Amino acid sequence: MKKLILDTLFPISCLGCETHETWLCEKCFSTIEVPDRQICPLCENVLTPQGKVCTSCQKRQKSFLDCLIVAASYENSLIKQMIHALKYRFIENLAEPLAKLLLKSLLQNEIPLPDCIIPVPLHPRRLRWRGFNQSLLLAQKISEDLTPLMKIEILEILERRKYNRPQMEIKKYQDRLDNVKGIFRLKDEPRTTASQLWPPVVRGESPDLKNKIILLLDDIATTGATLEECARTLKEKGAKKIYAAVVARQTIKKYNF
Ligand SMILES: [Zn+2]
Ligand SMILES: [Zn+2]
Repeated sequence: MKKLILDTLFPISCLGCETHETWLCEKCFSTIEVPDRQICPLCENVLTPQGKVCTSCQKRQKSFLDCLIVAASYENSLIKQMIHALKYRFIENLAEPLAKLLLKSLLQNEIPLPDCIIPVPLHPRRLRWRGFNQSLLLAQKISEDLTPLMKIEILEILERRKYNRPQMEIKKYQDRLDNVKGIFRLKDEPRTTASQLWPPVVRGESPDLKNKIILLLDDIATTGATLEECARTLKEKGAKKIYAAVVARQTIKKYNF
């Protein structure tokens, strides 16, 4: 119903140029730049291969994330509008161009092929409200297209058990880490496969994560504290590497360690 109302109020037109009857025309899509270099996810000051944590940050602070790949800039108003329209106007079609950007960035950065993809979960209340998890939509596309030879398994094995205070309201990185501490856990319900989805998604109790290389996906990161907490939860269960990737990063230059 809410979608019907929104569609009537805002008929389909390109978010960039408003001239075509599509949410994003080819021309506007082609203007979005995917950076060919990545920076340290913690200090955001040093260029590092694949967005790994730089050596001075490694000395200062333990990180469970092995890298963070960012596909585009949130300063790009088109990216901002696309993510907003996906999440708050429920335009699921926009997951596709966003996933394409993410895919381009993953291929450019030549990350090792992951054993599985894990989308960052929403709190059940948020999931009911939106009707879908935008990170899962991205994961499905990436799963299909990351390598031509196979579909990478998607595991919906993490759950968000606390409705935490929005990270946006918190300035300090350490306080953000504290805010998300312990909010994720691995599901313990019996494992099922959502075969109506393509590629199929494995839900419930996690398979053995020992020595697994995991690609963790989300739409947006700010300080990266949420991804860090997911990574901590997965590494506790034996995961070997956590490569995180997001469509865009919202930079808050003011936060301090
Ligand atoms: Zn356009
Ligand atoms: Zn750094």
